Amino acid sequence: MRKILKLGVLTSGGDAPGMNPCIRSVVRTAIYNGLQVVGIRRGYQGLIEDDMYDMNTRSVSNILDLGGTILKTARCLPFRTDEGMETAYQNLKKREIDAIVVIGGDGTFTGALRFSQKYPDIAVLGVPGTIDNDLYGSTYTLGFDTATNTVIEAIDKIRDTADAHDRLFFIEVMGRDSGAIALRAGISCGAEAILLPEKETAIENLIENLKGGQYNKKSSSIVIVAEGDKHGGAYDIAKIVQKEVKFYDVKVTILGHLQRGGSPSAFDRILGSRLGYAAVNALIAGETQKMVGLEANHIKITSLEEALTQHEFKLEEDLMQMAEILSI
Ligand code: ATP
Repeated sequence: MRKILKLGVLTSGGDAPGMNPCIRSVVRTAIYNGLQVVGIRRGYQGLIEDDMYDMNTRSVSNILDLGGTILKTARCLPFRTDEGMETAYQNLKKREIDAIVVIGGDGTFTGALRFSQKYPDIAVLGVPGTIDNDLYGSTYTLGFDTATNTVIEAIDKIRDTADAHDRLFFIEVMGRDSGAIALRAGISCGAEAILLPEKETAIENLIENLKGGQYNKKSSSIVIVAEGDKHGGAYDIAKIVQKEVKFYDVKVTILGHLQRGGSPSAFDRILGSRLGYAAVNALIAGETQKMVGLEANHIKITSLEEALTQHEFKLEEDLMQMAEILSI
């Protein structure tokens, strides 16, 4: 069995609240087990530029409550090339790093798997960190819970003003390929309609429903639009609907990047701690090219290959149906 002596940790792709608790967990679990730990800055960019530093237990003090990532993150084009990967490999060898924990989404895992297939002497373990909650092998990904709570807080405030003015609000939330945030936030805030990238929206039905709301004497209506909806963004849909729904004053809010920020929720702090701990223990046990996730409240280890190929966006029909019934 391979023996790990020195471990690198990086965060890559979109930042997600919960990454810091995970970094803390990786560092402290590794040190507890007698390993040295190196922090790699700005994801794969730091690997290529040799931008790394030795970490100790104090390097991760007081970061549980911080959003973002103390290691910074980046989208790194050169890592997609053979030359970029070779430079990254040489930098790891120079520093005698045997293994890396990569915290990120499917792009990050694709890079990690390619790298590890090219250079199998470096062990690689993935932790799902993305607000989109779109990775196979874990019911929840780091950051999803916090981002959903942030969206809910914002929509509750919009509901107050919508109600005061009899307005119809179209609120755009993140989720290019995944309607996970939109659906959970929609249920939590009693949205009158939820538009998801996984399901073609019938605009005629939406208009009928909104007219029905007026008939039912609703004083405001909220439509949540995931940014990946096939009809375009919230502005495009609002324009179509405004022509037909004259009784409401129509407004649009794009929540944007505020959804990524903020202190991680209790759920994301615990998830980050559990997954970081599990990732280091899996590496010590000799695993590589794997991802740690949480399913039915138990740690589950999935191969990166499976996590990436089984990756599919599935619509939670039961939740959609319930949301429709509860919003009448
Ligand atoms: P999010 O889901 O939040 O967008 P992500 O991990 O999917 O996170 P990406 O920007 O898609 O974010 O990927 C992160 C990084 O992974 C890329 O910037 C690139 O460095 C690396 N990467 C992605 N795809 C590949 C690939 N095919 N080969 C090598 N590296 C890759």
